[in-house]
Amino acid sequence: ISIEAPYELQLKNVHYTYPHTRKEILHGINLTIKPGEKLAILGRSGSGKSTMASLLRGDRIPTEGTVTLNNINTSKFGDQITNYFSVINQSPYLFNTTIANNLRLGNEDATDEQLWDVLHRVGLAEMVESLPDKINTKVEEAGLRFSGGERHRLALARVLLKDTPIVLLDEPTVGLDPITEQAVINTILTQLKNKTLIWITHHLQGIEKMDQIIFLEDGKLAMQGSPDQL
Ligand code: ATP
Ligand code: MG
Repeated sequence: ISIEAPYELQLKNVHYTYPHTRKEILHGINLTIKPGEKLAILGRSGSGKSTMASLLRGDRIPTEGTVTLNNINTSKFGDQITNYFSVINQSPYLFNTTIANNLRLGNEDATDEQLWDVLHRVGLAEMVESLPDKINTKVEEAGLRFSGGERHRLALARVLLKDTPIVLLDEPTVGLDPITEQAVINTILTQLKNKTLIWITHHLQGIEKMDQIIFLEDGKLAMQGSPDQL
């Protein structure tokens, strides 16, 4: 499947119940995420935020209703969804290989110059410059030196290399101190300025910069609007 910009995501009357369970988790969600929109998804633990994320990525199929990217069900894309969609989770995973290899997971053809470019953009160039083998340092060897914030920045660098039009952040700054968190959020918002950004978060820091905010409550949209309206 190949689709072209602009990219619009749409949920129509989406219900979801996990297989082999009885309890419905999402109860009729309607939402449009416009091209380039910055959307924050808020809600208590267990309200269904990550479930909604897996439906958006097409990892799960709604039990009723549709989730579409440019009018095609997201579940139909299979692995090709990764051409359009990248994700940063709570604890970004680093593989036990070099920094360069970890970054090239986003784009295997990336040149060293491109790697340094994204490292600059996420504010890690200086740190990597100081390592003995620079981008060829194994993360295992550098492992102890990577703080939580730096791991998030590496994950973000990988996403920037991948350069997909839609980026989903599922509580990407959990476990960071407030100052590092603010710095990571600022980097994310600046570097992903032209992309569709879906940001799942527990708290309000930074959401004033978003276009649309939704509150999930027990699998329903309890509130929806721009930061000014809420
Ligand atoms: P948190 O803020 O804690 O990450 P969340 O809003 O992301 O919470 P979800 O992970 O979407 O919440 O979970 C919503 C509900 O679905 C919860 O009641 C959870 O127990 C249930 N659930 C999540 N994953 C599964 C699964 N794989 N199988 C069955 N039930 C699940
Ligand atoms: Mg979650």
